[in-house]
Amino acid sequence: MNGKISSFQSLGTLDGPGLRTVVFMQGCPLRCICCHNPETWDFNVGMTISADDLVEKILRYKEYIKDGGATFSGGEPIYQAKFVAEVFRKLHDNNIHTCLDTSGCIYNDDIDELLNNADLVLLDYKYSTDEAYKKYVGCSVSAPTYFLEKLEEKNIKTWIRRVIIPKINDDDFSYSDIENMKKTHSCVEKIEYLPLSLLCKEKYENMGIDFPVEHLFE
Ligand code: SF4
Repeated sequence: MNGKISSFQSLGTLDGPGLRTVVFMQGCPLRCICCHNPETWDFNVGMTISADDLVEKILRYKEYIKDGGATFSGGEPIYQAKFVAEVFRKLHDNNIHTCLDTSGCIYNDDIDELLNNADLVLLDYKYSTDEAYKKYVGCSVSAPTYFLEKLEEKNIKTWIRRVIIPKINDDDFSYSDIENMKKTHSCVEKIEYLPLSLLCKEKYENMGIDFPVEHLFE
């Protein structure tokens, strides 16, 4: 089976526990205003790679990632759920820890099967209201809410992540809402707050589009 990836990071420390290879999958239908990887949006570009070749590429780093693992990010990996599930199964055959970084914007049988092969999910729960989700992401808040319920049902270890954007999701309600998720869901191991960064600005410039939150840095 083949999949489409945008890039491959041999060793990273920011996406899950320990030292990890990070695979950035190609394609995402959302348009988050703080997206750091706009180059991953287009479903029609990217590098095609087979599951076997990708596993082999990851296993080259096995010695370094033995206390970490492999994280699949994006883009949105759940749009290539069958492919990622196959890679995860093969990684498990080689005792590699698997982690899925997702917005949780859709759910279907393929994603259900993918989750059965994930040791950890980083759920990017971006905002606390439907209004903000529709305005700044492009889907309803009911999507990640449902995704989180499935993670709870399946008892999959989950880290909830949120990029904090001044004046948009740094209010008391947003903080208490996300902290409550930890209290009400036993699958949630921790909450990670991430800073908004300008590092991706050049990517937007190269694509000839504005970085929507650049004005917050002025
Ligand atoms: S879901 Fe991820 S890749 Fe897609 S637009 Fe949002 S931040 Fe970017």
